[in-house]
Amino acid sequence: MTIWICATCGIGHPDTGAPPSSCAICLDERQYVPATGQRWTHQRELSADGHRMRIEPLEPGLHGLSVVPRFAIGQRGLLVCTPAGNLLWEPPGYLDEETLAAVEALGGVAAISASHPHLTGACIQWSHAFDRAPVWVASADRAWIRRPDPVIELWAGVHEVLPGLTMIQCGGHFAGSAVVHWDAGAGGKGAMLSGDTIQIGADRASVSAMRSYPNNIPLPAPSIRRILEATAVYDYDRLYSAFAVIEQGAKPLVEASLSRYMEWIQGHVPDEPER
Ligand SMILES: [Zn+2]
Ligand SMILES: [Zn+2]
Repeated sequence: MTIWICATCGIGHPDTGAPPSSCAICLDERQYVPATGQRWTHQRELSADGHRMRIEPLEPGLHGLSVVPRFAIGQRGLLVCTPAGNLLWEPPGYLDEETLAAVEALGGVAAISASHPHLTGACIQWSHAFDRAPVWVASADRAWIRRPDPVIELWAGVHEVLPGLTMIQCGGHFAGSAVVHWDAGAGGKGAMLSGDTIQIGADRASVSAMRSYPNNIPLPAPSIRRILEATAVYDYDRLYSAFAVIEQGAKPLVEASLSRYMEWIQGHVPDEPER
């Protein structure tokens, strides 16, 4: 039967005769249903509509995967290549034959993971296409699994998904929100793949973390502090969020902007007139 994909979030749902009545991910206060209402699509329709995968080298050992024209949330998935196999981070909600062959040529997929439920896309389809590679889901977010499948593995805390690639649970946006530290990234200086756990600002020199990005719901200070503490022991020079990159000097920028965030949510309005 058809594997239904929500057109707003791009997340795959079980193969049923008719599409689900609603998408729980999009009904949640962190996401949204568009004014035009809930719409479902599927892989055949996306291909027929002219969607394709753009695969671009980003640095040695790293490729970006973007659906063009943009589809759903539109994150850039990342394929991290290591001698022990490749990690597919934040799989797009799309997988055609051409993409499969191109990713196979890059060494295939040994493990799949994402920073949080919004960016899990067609993770089960990807897993089935690549020898049922494990799909790692933070145990704290298991209630958000939309397409249950035996390939799903639960994890919590800190987990080395492949040698040199460590998933770190930070919480915040979702209870299980995570980042991946890539030892060999940025020419050996280390890279952090942060998805929506830590988002990069339009200035490409600052970051933020929110409960909801589209609906502008902030996080309390203890959540921001926890992100800082969870990432503090890891060295990294480069930061890849779901949509952007800070090429160098990322760690001090993360620390400075999240500290600024805490000052704003706990402090006084600086331009408030003296009373
Ligand atoms: Zn949805
Ligand atoms: Zn999100």
